[in-house]
Amino acid sequence: MAAMSRVEERRRQLEQSLGGEHLYANRVRVYSKAVKGPMRRVKWAVLAFCLTIYYLLPWLRWDRGIGRPSQAVLLDIAARRYYFFGLEFWPQDIYLLTGTLIVAAVGLFLVTSLFGRVWCGYACPQTVWTDLFMWFEREIEGDRNERMKRDAGPLGLDKLWRKAAKHATWLFIAFWTGGAWIMYFADAPTITRQFWTGAAPLPAYFFTGLFTFTTYALAGWGREQVCTYMCPWPRFQSAMLDEQSLTTTYQAWRGEPRAHGKRDPSAPPAGDCVDCGACYTACPMGIDIRDGIQLECINCGLCIDACDHVMRITGKPERLIAWDTLADQKAKQEGRSVRFRLWRPRTVIYFAALAIAMTAMLTALALRASLAIDVEHDRAPLFVLLPDGGIRNGYTVNLTNRTQAWAPFALSVTGLPGATLANGTTPRERHRVLTLSVAPDSIADFRVLLTAPPDAPKAPRRPIGFVLRNPTTGAQTSYGGAFMGPATYSGGGP
Ligand code: SF4
Ligand code: SF4
Repeated sequence: MAAMSRVEERRRQLEQSLGGEHLYANRVRVYSKAVKGPMRRVKWAVLAFCLTIYYLLPWLRWDRGIGRPSQAVLLDIAARRYYFFGLEFWPQDIYLLTGTLIVAAVGLFLVTSLFGRVWCGYACPQTVWTDLFMWFEREIEGDRNERMKRDAGPLGLDKLWRKAAKHATWLFIAFWTGGAWIMYFADAPTITRQFWTGAAPLPAYFFTGLFTFTTYALAGWGREQVCTYMCPWPRFQSAMLDEQSLTTTYQAWRGEPRAHGKRDPSAPPAGDCVDCGACYTACPMGIDIRDGIQLECINCGLCIDACDHVMRITGKPERLIAWDTLADQKAKQEGRSVRFRLWRPRTVIYFAALAIAMTAMLTALALRASLAIDVEHDRAPLFVLLPDGGIRNGYTVNLTNRTQAWAPFALSVTGLPGATLANGTTPRERHRVLTLSVAPDSIADFRVLLTAPPDAPKAPRRPIGFVLRNPTTGAQTSYGGAFMGPATYSGGGP
């Protein structure tokens, strides 16, 4: 309590030093009004596309052969595999995930520098689900004015059932959102059946519950607060924008001075803005774009649709609020105009970085090895002197077969003339080239015995190379190892 009091006291002092300004503003509830127009249609189209992909993708099948997952997109944590249509990723491919994140980040930088926060306004999951929740809210509780009136009124039966229906609908959507999420981690038909029969693993129920809660809380309750206070993107997006970036802008040079209702005939001529408020009542972030570019603006363009409607009614040209650049806005105030420049130093840099990152990614993907070898020398004994004077070393050889067929790997050794290899299970059968078969898409360990002939040059430690080849595909790789012998050795048997 004492600590809380000190915090409260400090806050009070800070507020006093700010001239009585409060550090924390109360949330002003946003009642956005429905609009129609091209931006709204694009938003609906993107929303439908994103949600269709999210909910249906786990149900898409992909034939990988018998005994293998048939789900097109699957992150199989237990088997440590990620399947994406015809591609299969192993934990060793984590660098490709890093590359994908870099490509996504640079791509977002490029798009933001060209078109502002269109990601936030159209395709961000927070926007998509909030838009969906708002649509159901309007369907159940009515549009802005109706909702405001009902919320301000007493709690009656009408208000109660509508609120209950809205929250039940939100929870239903949130539940299916959480349910769809777990399908990316297990075979969708199987986990669905297990879920409803109570046979699914505990994490499936936990994560469904977690994502149900977060979807309901963030899209239903958090809404614009998430974008403004929780998301870091608005904080550093300004580093990507410049005067040539296309953003939603109010054409103040044309709209001002605003004229609301009847005007004094002696007043100076009015601008095109009739101060109707349609733009800010349509805004899902609750801001007035006429105040200029703001951190809260997600560039959704709904205020453009709202204002265009007003302009058509008042018989004035559309696009008083428009996608435009700040450079063009400034120029228009001086009676000029500036064309949108696609290629600017920052877009060239982002584009080059994106091209380099994508090329590196695709090259790494194309050159991914289909086989791998890892060798561990026996710790004890380091070597065995054989009766005929030869020396034998034991190894554990770990082989990876990333193809979809049995691999009859051919293992040989360089740097030790005349050496022979034997499988630990049949030590008497020695070969210059040892065949070790590994099942499709798997890793296997073999105990391998390497024997140097009696007349081989002697050394306590001799660098050698293990060469692994897949005769079917021709792929080859190698591993640098060592062959151990006695510190002093005079040759011959013991
Ligand atoms: S000001 Fe316009 S573009 Fe920005 S968030 Fe509001 S409605 Fe969308
Ligand atoms: S919708 Fe257009 S006319 Fe109405 S207040 Fe906004 S900018 Fe002015």
